[in-house]
Amino acid sequence: EDQVEPDPSKKTLVILGTGWGSVSLLKRLDTENYNVIVISPRNYFLFTPLLPSCTTGTIEHRSIMEPIRTILRQKKARVRFYEAEASSIDPDRKVVRLIDTSEIRGDITETEVPYDMLVVGVGAENATFGIPGVREHSCFLKEIGDAQKIRKRIMDCVETAAFKDQSPQEIDRLLHMVVVGGGPTGVEFAGELQDFFEEDIKKLVPEISDRFRVTLIEALPNVLPMFSKQLIEYTESTFKEEKINIHTKTMVKKVTDKTVEAEVTGPDGKKKTVVFPYGLLVWATGNAVRPVVKDLMSRIPAQANSRRGLAVNEYLVVQGTRDIWAVGDCAVAGYAPTAQVASQEGTFLARLFNNMAKTEALEAKISELSSSLNLQPGNSAAISHEIEQHERQLRRIKDIKPFHYSHQGSLAYIGSEKAVADVTWFNGNLAAAGSLTFLFWRSAYISMCFSTRNRLLVINDWLKSKVFGRDLSRE
Ligand code: FAD
Ligand code: NAD
Repeated sequence: EDQVEPDPSKKTLVILGTGWGSVSLLKRLDTENYNVIVISPRNYFLFTPLLPSCTTGTIEHRSIMEPIRTILRQKKARVRFYEAEASSIDPDRKVVRLIDTSEIRGDITETEVPYDMLVVGVGAENATFGIPGVREHSCFLKEIGDAQKIRKRIMDCVETAAFKDQSPQEIDRLLHMVVVGGGPTGVEFAGELQDFFEEDIKKLVPEISDRFRVTLIEALPNVLPMFSKQLIEYTESTFKEEKINIHTKTMVKKVTDKTVEAEVTGPDGKKKTVVFPYGLLVWATGNAVRPVVKDLMSRIPAQANSRRGLAVNEYLVVQGTRDIWAVGDCAVAGYAPTAQVASQEGTFLARLFNNMAKTEALEAKISELSSSLNLQPGNSAAISHEIEQHERQLRRIKDIKPFHYSHQGSLAYIGSEKAVADVTWFNGNLAAAGSLTFLFWRSAYISMCFSTRNRLLVINDWLKSKVFGRDLSRE
């Protein structure tokens, strides 16, 4: 079980990433069938749906992280993990180049890993559309470090606004929290931020309490485009009650260290430029393709027309290759880039790989039996029967259906203990919103948490912030 060296009789399966896609694959993969190697710059799985709650301390960040080493320890056969970034993939030589990008590095920082089979699950990076100033001045909301940075900055803005002799105009700027992007990330973050302010900051820093403002900027005519119309309306009216300003049809064009410049389309169709001074800016305008994926795409002629990621077939094989699969946000399979899709894709690949191994084992057994048929003519009836049984089993296993995504619904938290949900219910659609939906949202996420440990920690965090309030220390 604790075998250290790779088994030369088995194929090497390399998995890139430790996110939703790769970890769902690992969870169900029978690791005894392959030499499995996992490569990711992050040595933990992150439960992204609760990441917006970490920005305000409603949930502590470690409660939604699960170390990959713990996950791998539970596998039947040993899996190797390298904390590194895949910098390039060579589909002709079948090797992955990896770089240690962490703070502490040894003599070797760059090397190669050969593969027989490769799964790309590296996710996506933040889209900025090349808008000037975005990378330098805004916070993103994708990784744990982003949430920690936001949490720190919110309190820094508050304490700086409360600084002695601060001018009213500067107080207004510092306490203006601007969120760009009205997708679920932007909406959930705006809701969490307003909660933090209403429930905690207001009480503890009363001198600035009437100055705090949250503004959500969205280029399209409405927020949450993937939700049904009534839920969009519900969200917009709840935000109005929560005093979150929504600016739709407003496209950000430029960012400086203290302002956001946007182009607004008025009701008459005329465009004008508006400037929003801010203290904290959070940029949540969706996904862009990672460099390692772009590089791989450029090496495969069949990917020439794909823009948003690796085009895959219905078995998630990267088009134009035979032994590379892609899952999650880096794959273009015709679904939205969500955790739900990524995890179902990972589960599908685990089944596929488990079956492929079984198929190979059965085929080997059948050919072995066939040769013994000639050597032991006396036993031929029994052996033929056994062959037949194996062949039947082989047909059943080989008949694996293509990947099919089953949509369970969309859920989003919108602040003040309210949530919106579009769920599939007895083949129909159910749209729900409000406080009951909030309880549903909480229980759904609790049940989806990676481990019992995560579940207990999250419940504990919710209770703690309810009873004692959120922690305003800026660490
Ligand atoms: P990820 O989970 O992003 O994982 C990618 C992995 O690849 C990471 O481990 C990363 O470190 C690693 N990696 C990066 N570069 C390299 C490299 N060069 N080499 C090797 N490894 C690399 N979806 C939902 O369905 N429901 C939700 O409620 C929801 N909430 C969300 C909230 C937030 C704040 C965010 C940001 C997203 C949310 N999503 C939600 C979307 C969901 O998180 C993504 O769709 C999902 O994470 C995609 O899974 P993935 O495995 O493709 O990528
Ligand atoms: P998104 O792509 O869903 O939304 C980004 C928004 O930013 C778009 O509405 C776009 O019009 C807007 N935008 C782009 N450029 C802009 C500009 N210059 N100025 C103003 N607005 C601009 O991104 P997201 O919210 O980060 O979500 C990414 C993925 O993760 C989606 O698939 C989403 O469904 C999923 N997700 C789901 C949940 C959930 O289910 N609760 C939560 C977070 C993320």
